Amino acid sequence: TSFAHFGFDEQLMKAIRKSEYTQPTPIQAAGIPAALSGRDLIGIARTGSGKTAAFLWPLLIHIMDQKELGPGDGPIGLILAPTRELAQQIYMEAKRFGKVYNIRCVCCYGGGSKWEQTKALEDMFSKNTLHSPSAGQNSTRHDDDDNEFVTCPGMQCGQRRAVVRHGARACSPAELLVGLYLYCGGAEIIVGTPGRIIDLIKCKATSLSRVTYLVLDEADRMFDMGFEPQVRSICNHVRPDRQALLFSATFPRKVERLVRDALHDPVRVQH
Ligand code: AMP
Repeated sequence: TSFAHFGFDEQLMKAIRKSEYTQPTPIQAAGIPAALSGRDLIGIARTGSGKTAAFLWPLLIHIMDQKELGPGDGPIGLILAPTRELAQQIYMEAKRFGKVYNIRCVCCYGGGSKWEQTKALEDMFSKNTLHSPSAGQNSTRHDDDDNEFVTCPGMQCGQRRAVVRHGARACSPAELLVGLYLYCGGAEIIVGTPGRIIDLIKCKATSLSRVTYLVLDEADRMFDMGFEPQVRSICNHVRPDRQALLFSATFPRKVERLVRDALHDPVRVQH
């Protein structure tokens, strides 16, 4: 199989050529046509198999197919990963290829990463690429203490303003979540760890009502790390007519049960 078999447009093909990939990996050759056809998918694959591109490229096509939906209505693709490191790797790849179509992506994870997420938030504001439900009405101002505020009348957390930065101090987790509403509202793809995604849902920082493409990456590891309740809860927050793709290096009973509960008539590919 060559990349030409996938029927990607010239823009995406150009980005793939630029990556210097010469041919699809086995998981890509088998998984991409199934994902493009809209089927649910089980991919038995490890890191290094090229599985990220196998779910990411079809996601970009899926998003472009629904571009008539306006920006700022919440993400279309939700990708769950067990660790911050993996989430970041996926995010980097999503940014690299998403750029082709101006698709925006955010990465959300718990732990000691608030500063970086705040930084990403700030970058987004400063580059003025934010499209929230009230895009155009956002404004940034500084008060006397050099606090920077972003106001957005469309925010849903019962607050009308997010503090991005207090002088040199990064914002608090609660403030960050409010800010993330703005941040996530403008992105078509969210990559994150299950705990942080649950936080976002709880504080209504993002709506998953538009998510129609759900990826559970390294499902076995997410379960080993105790994320089963969170993963299941997130699956239940996503509309039932979504396309779901699950990747796992191994296929223990627990993962099998999740497949039965969360996937619909999946194609299974193994490498
Ligand atoms: P993954 O299994 O998704 O973590 O990917 C492992 C590595 O393989 C990443 O560094 C990708 O950039 C790279 N990769 C993905 N697809 C291909 C391909 N078709 N040919 C060569 N390398 C690839």
